Amino acid sequence: MLGFTEEEAALETAAVESMLAWYREHQRVLPWRSLPTPYRVLVSEVMLQQTQVATVIPYFDRFLRACPDFASLAAADTAAVLKLWEGLGYYSRARRLQACARQVMENGGALSANPAELARLPGIGPYTAAAVASIAFGRPYPAVDGNVLRVQARLLADDADVSSMAVRRRVYERLLAVIRQTPDPSAFNQAQMEIGAMVCLPRQPLCGDCPLRDYCRAFASGEPTAYPRRPERRAVPHVQVAVGLIFHHGRLLILRRSEKQMLGGLWEFPGGKLEPGETPAEAVEREVREETGLAVEVGARVGVIRHAYSHFRITMHAYRCGLLSPETPAVVTDRPHAWADQEELAAYAFPKANHKIFACAGFADGFQA
Ligand code: SF4
Repeated sequence: MLGFTEEEAALETAAVESMLAWYREHQRVLPWRSLPTPYRVLVSEVMLQQTQVATVIPYFDRFLRACPDFASLAAADTAAVLKLWEGLGYYSRARRLQACARQVMENGGALSANPAELARLPGIGPYTAAAVASIAFGRPYPAVDGNVLRVQARLLADDADVSSMAVRRRVYERLLAVIRQTPDPSAFNQAQMEIGAMVCLPRQPLCGDCPLRDYCRAFASGEPTAYPRRPERRAVPHVQVAVGLIFHHGRLLILRRSEKQMLGGLWEFPGGKLEPGETPAEAVEREVREETGLAVEVGARVGVIRHAYSHFRITMHAYRCGLLSPETPAVVTDRPHAWADQEELAAYAFPKANHKIFACAGFADGFQA
């Protein structure tokens, strides 16, 4: 698709036509495609960053019901926005999306169609700016994400490192020349993304179903999965964490994470990483004291869960804790905290790992004690 001799240009035109014809017939019916307003496209693109389409769909529908436009999102309570995002992960996306909506409202309520101006808004990088400009406004800018990079690397049998900024820039420039020649930039970008998501799969590309097969050098080489070159895998750090479930008169103590932290603004149980040589129970007693000023007796283990984040994994040990003093305790912390009963707990947004603790047998017993 990327050559510039006469012969290659003709080949490129044929490849684009084949891709667009395939897209017209095979594109998935997705809620944001039926009505691609700038707001809906932006919300969908932000949700789709690092998240699968099937996961995003129910979140998108729920989010749009609660916050149907920039004005309602800008005016919403941030805790309510985080609650709508709960379980989707990468929560800074939600906060930045709301900051973006507030900025848009300050600018008069309309999103610019210019990618350079879009990229100045919170949470909008070059990819999202190009996706919004092309899908919502029909502007000819290529949206280059991981799927597109993979398709491009295979089409050209190019083994350059696609994680390098220079290579991404090169792919962008080449696609910019192509998209400027196409009548429908929105379909062009979405067709490439769709092929990357549905046909040119990372491990098992479905070359037999691919509209680009006749133009694909990786397919012709017989080894499509040799492209793009895979960077060497680094070992994923594994962190041991211990948390305390402190119940008092049927209420559970929870703390809000700082906005500056990962999972910022979400709620959690007091606890933290194990120090070298420390047992999980010892870590709970120490962490609770350091984080809340409370002296507790560490009781039964309620559960041990494992959870994987993008760059590390955790094992979380959760222990029921009893207060050493029978009076209503004074929690000493500079973080917002709450004693929530079982019903109230549902109103707070928690990371997925904490939801796994909620699901442990015996967790809810603490509310009855
Ligand atoms: Fe990917 Fe195969 Fe299509 Fe080439 S022919 S773009 S490797 S699915």
